[in-house]
Amino acid sequence: MMLYKEPAPIKDRENPFESMMSRFNIAAEVLGLDEETYNVLKSPARQVIVNVPVTMDDGKVRVFEGYRVVHSTILGPSKGGIRYAPDVFLDEVKALAAWMTWKCAVVDIPYGGAKGGIICDPYSMSAGEIERLTRAYTSSLVDIFGPDRDIPAPDMGTGPREMAWLMDEYSKTKGSTEHGVVTGKPLVLGGSLGRVEATGRGVMVSAMAAMEKLGMDPAKSTAAVQGFGNVGSWAAKLMAERGVKILGVSDVSGAYWNDNGIDIEEAIEYKNGNNGRLEGYKGAEQIDPAELLTSKVDVLVPAAVEDVITIHNVDKIQARLIVEGANGPTSYKADNIINEKGIMVVPDILANSGGVTVSYFEWVQNRMGFKWTLDRVNERAERIMNESFERVYAASQKYNVPMRIAAYIVAIDKVAMTYKYRGGF
Ligand code: NAD
Repeated sequence: MMLYKEPAPIKDRENPFESMMSRFNIAAEVLGLDEETYNVLKSPARQVIVNVPVTMDDGKVRVFEGYRVVHSTILGPSKGGIRYAPDVFLDEVKALAAWMTWKCAVVDIPYGGAKGGIICDPYSMSAGEIERLTRAYTSSLVDIFGPDRDIPAPDMGTGPREMAWLMDEYSKTKGSTEHGVVTGKPLVLGGSLGRVEATGRGVMVSAMAAMEKLGMDPAKSTAAVQGFGNVGSWAAKLMAERGVKILGVSDVSGAYWNDNGIDIEEAIEYKNGNNGRLEGYKGAEQIDPAELLTSKVDVLVPAAVEDVITIHNVDKIQARLIVEGANGPTSYKADNIINEKGIMVVPDILANSGGVTVSYFEWVQNRMGFKWTLDRVNERAERIMNESFERVYAASQKYNVPMRIAAYIVAIDKVAMTYKYRGGF
């Protein structure tokens, strides 16, 4: 049996790509990955930077920088969301693309990994500006995207509306309706039932599976959820439905706490009527957002952005279980301390893989020209999440490593094996 080794320190500044690579390196070593395969898997297959001119509402043309990184197509067409954010940067998109490769491998679906991003602030743009930006970005990447090549999806700052514009723009350039070029579409446009809540549902399913392993009773447990967008709000709602008391939630406007448990349905309703933000929510008292992560709860669900659990706050974390709804919320350096503290982490590439799983179902339905019922979607997604959890848990026992490294081991092993069968390039 190979024992988990303490990761070697990396340089002070942590960036998501380095964080990803550090875990990849540990898993590759445990697996004894050969050098050729290591080199293939560590490098993104393709990185595209586009600069797209968009006419703004005031009549002026502004140029936006966008990215699409295809990390791997070894398992199949690449898959991954598009992020609209003012601070999105290439190394972040590279890390997110690689995580998509590992995520698809962990849940055993036939996709490679990709990710896109545009430097913009969607909250300060009009719908018309966002539509023109989305169409311009799509048309500049029309040779990358494709139902059999690279299939985008929503991520932070994007949703069904943007996916509809992307699908329409792509279809126009191809001269045919191409539902399968993108997932996370509105239902009327070939979207799948259950896709909107799929990531949050998967977070809940993995939280329940982990709580069972730890002997925790959901009905006697408390949680805090950082991020109250698609993933965070659904995860909070579905965990609350399983009896978990959600004491704290937060979004970009602040953090909110209620010792008696927050009424999640009410908070969602408030947010929906308040431009997507919790600002001014009266069902809880406002607390320092930094305190949310270190508050006294049993389960912590980071579901917002990267690098929020770091060496600066990890010492103070009190939760027994961290379920990573967001991609890359824990910095690499914090891993050691989390492991020393005996906290179980359901890592991002497992915990939030419910989204890509139902995206895959959406793509399958588009290609069949058929619609599944919500029950069928949820039942199949839940089965995949539970099987994947067990696969990763078994690897963590077998190699005596934390769940995060185990998930990378499962993923890298699958992609490496497929690469060998395909005979390299
Ligand atoms: P979203 O845009 O719907 O919501 C993001 C939420 O995070 C918002 O409530 C926002 O206010 C909040 N937020 C932003 N910065 C914050 C900060 N510094 N502190 C606290 N809250 C902050 O995005 P989403 O789709 O829910 O994605 C959240 C995370 O989950 C991202 O890391 C994303 O990559 C990951 N993810 C999303 C999906 C999906 O299907 N949407 C799938 C897998 C992973």
